[in-house]
Parts: sequence; structure tokens; C-alpha cells
Amino acid sequence: MTETELRFGYLNMVLYESDMDMELRAGDLATRPDLSQHSFKSLLDFLVADHHVKGRTSTDLCQLDPRDGSMIIYAEHRSLRRDEHADTTTKPTPATCPICANQLTNVVDFAAQSHGFTFISQNMYPVLYPKNLAPETTTKSALMPDPGHQGRIAFGFHLLQWTSSLHDRDWHNIPLADSMITLQRLAILEEKVLRHSGGYMPLSCEKNGIHGYVSIIKNYGPAAGASLTHGHQQIAFSNIMPQRTFNNCRFFERHKITFNEYLWRENPEHLTIAQEGNVKIIVPYFMRRPFNIIVLPDTNAQHLHQLTNKEVHDVAVAMQKVIKTLHLLMPELGKEVSYNMAIHTGPDNRLYVEFFPVIQAIGGFERIGLWICQLSADHAAAQFRELYQEVTLDGID
Ligand SMILES: [Zn+2]
Repeated sequence: MTETELRFGYLNMVLYESDMDMELRAGDLATRPDLSQHSFKSLLDFLVADHHVKGRTSTDLCQLDPRDGSMIIYAEHRSLRRDEHADTTTKPTPATCPICANQLTNVVDFAAQSHGFTFISQNMYPVLYPKNLAPETTTKSALMPDPGHQGRIAFGFHLLQWTSSLHDRDWHNIPLADSMITLQRLAILEEKVLRHSGGYMPLSCEKNGIHGYVSIIKNYGPAAGASLTHGHQQIAFSNIMPQRTFNNCRFFERHKITFNEYLWRENPEHLTIAQEGNVKIIVPYFMRRPFNIIVLPDTNAQHLHQLTNKEVHDVAVAMQKVIKTLHLLMPELGKEVSYNMAIHTGPDNRLYVEFFPVIQAIGGFERIGLWICQLSADHAAAQFRELYQEVTLDGID
């Protein structure tokens, strides 16, 4: 471990110690908090009590585009965020990183890795915030009729999972065992909020007793909208259902199979990049942007916390190898590595992970739903497969 790494680890330990009193007062979360040991209520209280986000919360206003059901959350405070990429004359480094300098909110979950640790904290400029609303306002009328177009209440919370405490470590260069820990911590959080938030969140799936919606995404690189270089995932827990989640539910209603099963059945075999255990890595036949990739587990799990350990392993292998491949591919294309990732989950949808490398800009045709893709799915699959086969993982034979 380098001196910088040691210093960062030490500073974080100090942070936990100094925040101990507040943490205990706020919600009885201990110094190295383990979410599996705490109730949903204590998590909620802890997030509300965090003074770091005071004055930086959204107005809870959500509007819906009547043409296609897109959700728009108004969050003006987000424009105040510090963008590490704003100064184009210098490259961001650990020395300029606010996370390495401990400019972050209180930590809600912590897990050691082979080097450093992974942890979850509240977004300092949260898109969703746990409002103290009367249960009848929230659990019964999350998307209340809105004839005056005043907007809907959007509430919940917005967390960040830091892949590693060490600045330069992220999915493309951590050992497999560490990426599995990272996924498992997400699964613990997801289980906690989906299954234990009754009375606060409306039901999203009566069959499964699941409340609210969890959205997990990753932005990597400035072109993909990442304002911070320290590797992270974003987690939104909300009463509102993102459009793609809604569309996946609708897909199941219409076709009586999930979108995941549809892809297993219908996507042409020559567009499969590889198979890792029971997980396929594919280019969808309807690829709308170059190298859109889908990681497709053969699973009954709708949510991360329903994956078996073997499935977590296989999904982690596939995710890491796809990301490592993007790190080889994008420089070859003369691009800085930039991609978005989304973990699509239920209800009525079997889990899959989608990657969106930022390679071709979105133009006017795309804005009207006519996607002009400058690479064919066949060529993308062939090119991606060639690089994918060169990739190896630390911790796998
Ligand atoms: Zn950092």
C-alpha cells in the first residue's frame, strides 16, 4: 500500500470516530456501520440527521412527460456540485479528489476488501430525500392524480457506493473477490429498503411484498456525466418508477415472459460475446448505440438480493470483464473511457445489467426516437469479442 493509500484509510477511520456520537444519536449506526445490522427506520433517521446535506435537498417535484411517461425530477441544487472536470487545464488526481479529502456525508455501510474498503454514503446533493410525510400521503397516493399539473411528490433517498476507498481502484482493476463484496453490499442495501420500508414506501409489487423502486446506475468518465473521478455507483430508492422499469413491467404484461427471458430466447447466437457460468454477455440485435452490451444472467432473481452466491460470482465476472474490455476498446477508438451502466431489476423483470459506452453523440433524429447507429450489431459483437477474449481477471483461473 502506498503512503497516500494509508493516509486515506487513516483519515476515514478518524472520520468514523469523530462522527460516532452523532451516528449513535441519529440512528444507532455504529462506527463501521453494517447495514445488515440496522433497521430501515434507523437508516432513514440517520440520513435525515446528516448535517452535510442540509440546504442541498431537492424540492421533491416530479413531472411526467405525457407523451411517453418520462419522469423529470427538478433538482436545482445539483448545479452547485463541484465538478472535478470543470477545470480542463489539469487532470483530476487523488490530491484534488473531495472523497479522498473526506468531503463526504456520513457513512451508512462499510465492508473491508483485500485493499482498503468499500462504503456507502448519502449523496451530498441528493436527487431524492427522505421527507417526513404523513403515511397516507405517501403509501397510498404516490402518483396521485394531478389535474392542475402541480407535479408529483418524489421522495426516497439517493446514496453513493464507493467501489473502493482507494482512489484509483474501480471495477476494471479490483480483484474479483472485491467486486463480489461490492455487489453483495448493494444487495444488502437493496433487500433492506425493498422489504423493510412498508409504512413509508408504497407497495411496488403486491405478490412479493416489495415497496418502492431501487435504481442502481454507474457513470464513469466525464462524457458519461461523472462529476467525480473516485469510482462509484449511484443508488436511488424512490416512490416513483423510472420509465425503463415501467416498460420492463409492461413487457411482461404484454408478452407473459420477462425481457431477460425474451433475450435468452430471441437474441441471435452470433451476437453473444461470451458466457460466464450461467451469464451471457450479448450485443442486443436492436443495438441503438455502438457497443451497447447486456449482461444477461439465466436467473429467476428479479433483484440483486435474490441472486445466489454462484450467480453473484458469474455476474461480477461478466461485469468486470465487460468494463475491462471497455478500457481496452475506447482508447483504441480514440475515446476517453466513458460509460453508463444500469442494473435493471424488478418488479416483473428478471435482473440484467446494461452498458452504454459514450461513443456516438445523440443527435436530433435520436431525440425524436429515430436512432442512427454508426456501427452494426454484427460488427460490434465481433470487435468486442476479440478484445474480451484478451481480458483476464485477478482471482479467476
Ligand atoms: Zn479519491
